[in-house]
Amino acid sequence: MRERGRHSGFAAQGIAYAGGRFLPMEDATVSIATHAFNYGTGCFEGIRAYWNGDHEQLYVVKLLDHFRRLVASTRVFRIQIGHDAEELAEIALELLRRNAYREDCYVRPIAYKASPVIRVGLLGLEDAFCCFTAPMGAYLDIERGLSVTISGWRRNDDNAIPARAKATGGYLNAALAVADAQDAGFDEAIMLTGDGHVSEGSAANLFMIMNGTLVTPEVADDILVGITRGCVKAVAADLDIPVVERRIDRTELFVSDELFLCGTGVQVAAVTSVDGRPVGDGKFGDLTRAIRDRYLAAVHGEIDQYRDWLTPVYAGDHPRR
Ligand code: PMP
Repeated sequence: MRERGRHSGFAAQGIAYAGGRFLPMEDATVSIATHAFNYGTGCFEGIRAYWNGDHEQLYVVKLLDHFRRLVASTRVFRIQIGHDAEELAEIALELLRRNAYREDCYVRPIAYKASPVIRVGLLGLEDAFCCFTAPMGAYLDIERGLSVTISGWRRNDDNAIPARAKATGGYLNAALAVADAQDAGFDEAIMLTGDGHVSEGSAANLFMIMNGTLVTPEVADDILVGITRGCVKAVAADLDIPVVERRIDRTELFVSDELFLCGTGVQVAAVTSVDGRPVGDGKFGDLTRAIRDRYLAAVHGEIDQYRDWLTPVYAGDHPRR
């Protein structure tokens, strides 16, 4: 069980973007004195693109939403990239084109404090932007249910390191939680807020299903307001599944009918046990499966209704079918 859910990670490759130009990944390096490396003063995004072989097309999911969230994060941390969300989205598209992906992949943009100086703070420092990509298949094995534990580490408070802004330094919190969970033989950690309510997974939002209703923590419960979370809400509405955003108690997880995590990386992943207690009947739930399947079809460009979620990377989007 110890190795379940563990993944060695996805390796960056090909052409990257840094210092305002496209260059080989191995040349896109920073100084060991870089402020963000020393103090965690960066914001980032994780964006997926799915290859559709029938369409001969690579579709980026919610491209502009991700860059809008990045720009919002930079406001919190006083980072000025000098590009708006639309311009950043163009850079990401060009990067994907230059890498000529014909498989599922991931885009990682980072805006950060770049000055090589020793001084805590955010003012008077040089800001930089870079972006790289990696091929990415499934992140967790989404065909089987995950076993999770409720972490003893509490989620970053909005008044400490705001989870809303996707800060590089904030992920130390997630790293502690997931590492301890895996060391204890679980796949993933669920984190509670400082006052003991359910917040989210280490890098994914949480939904619980109770009596046919989807329940997810409110945005003020120290979550990253996930873009996949928004997609799940849209899919649920189309499947006539009601969605409620409210505080969730820890023990509600033990008595829920179904539970799943969602995020760009994990996609939609069923949770089948929490601290050794089976969720519902301990099997991959029917509603979770319905939402997962519709989400995956949508992001692969297979459902016309959701095509506005997707940005095609290559010219000429001509379905063969
Ligand atoms: N919460 C955290 C802490 C995350 O890192 C992520 C992944 N970005 C999510 C939630 C899910 O967000 P999204 O659906 O936008 O990827």
